[in-house]
This record gives sequence, structure tokens and C-alpha cells, in this order.
Amino acid sequence: MKIICIGLNYRKHAEEMGKPFPDEPMFFLKADSSIIKNNKPFFLPDFSDEIHYEAEIVLRICKLGKSVSAKFAHRYYDAVTLGIDITARDLQRRQSERGHPWEICKSFDGSAPLGRFLPVSELGNIHDLPFRLEKNGEVVQQSTTADLIFGIDAIIAWVSRFFTLKTGDLIFTGTPSGVGPLRKDDHLKGFIGDQPVIDFYIR
Ligand code: ZN
Repeated sequence: MKIICIGLNYRKHAEEMGKPFPDEPMFFLKADSSIIKNNKPFFLPDFSDEIHYEAEIVLRICKLGKSVSAKFAHRYYDAVTLGIDITARDLQRRQSERGHPWEICKSFDGSAPLGRFLPVSELGNIHDLPFRLEKNGEVVQQSTTADLIFGIDAIIAWVSRFFTLKTGDLIFTGTPSGVGPLRKDDHLKGFIGDQPVIDFYIR
């Protein structure tokens, strides 16, 4: 399976990163070894001094699809959760300055903690889905999928031009503003609407 992650997909986050709004969806991949499930802890790696959280709505693909049109995109995902696109921000800056790829700052072991999936059929409007992330009990990120620059269906259409989507593939849809650093013993808790879906510690 593959994990596709959309970058710079919320205006305020692009602003806080000092980046222009993209004119087409920008994405990168994470390895399957980046996944952490069942609220297991994330261990801070020794190769970075600046590990950041990015809370994102994650789609689970349920059907094989190539060059899917936006009109039919809703048939290709059946469940949603909150995932954390954990990023080594210092390495990301270094890689970007050198024009080198992002894998070591975005796809290292444990860089994709995933919450429990909620069936799309049990959620309200997927295109205006509220979510938030709390760090040590304080809300640090809060948004809704209505604020996405490229919405869910546009993402599926774009990505599937390049990659065949397969059952079980995951799409991280981008993070809203409020990204920030993680320290040892921080506690992250994420919600979709009022439902807690992810709850884990940094070690
Ligand atoms: Zn991200």
C-alpha cells in the first residue's frame, strides 16, 4: 500500500510556512513503515531537533481507480480518520535548500500515526468535516475540510492521474495552520467532530 500526502492545502498553513498557495495539488509519499496504529507512542528520532506535528484528515481508499473523475471520486473512499504527518522541520528546510527529496524528513519510521477510521456513511457532510488536535489539553489546530484549497474529490482526481489508487491506500489531505514542535512526554489527542479518534504520547 502507499500513503499519499498533500502539502500546503490550507491557506493559513501556507502563510505560516511562508509559501505561496499552490496552483495545483502538491503531494509526496510516505512509506508503509511510517505508520503507527492503536495509539502507540511516537519515539523522537535522534536525527532531528525539530519534530513537528501536522494533524490531517486521512482518507482510506476502498476501490481500484485510475484517472478517476472528481464527479465519481466519492466512490473511491469509504472511511476517514485523523492522522499526524510528523515532520522533521530542520531536515525539511535543509533538504529543500539543497533541492533534495523529502523522504528523510517526512517518511521516517513512525512519522504517520493514524487514528481509528470512521465510516464515511456515519459522518455528516464530508466536505465540511470539523476536526481538531489538542496538545497537552490545549487546542493547537482546528479546521474543517471546507477550508481545503483542493477538496477531497479534486485530490482523488489529481492523484489518480499519476498513481493507480488501490484498496487500503491512504491519502493525508493536508494540515491547517497551528503546526508546532513536539517534546518528550507531550500528549496528542485528535477529534473528528466530537469523536476522539487518536490519543497518544511522545516518548
Ligand atoms: Zn502535512
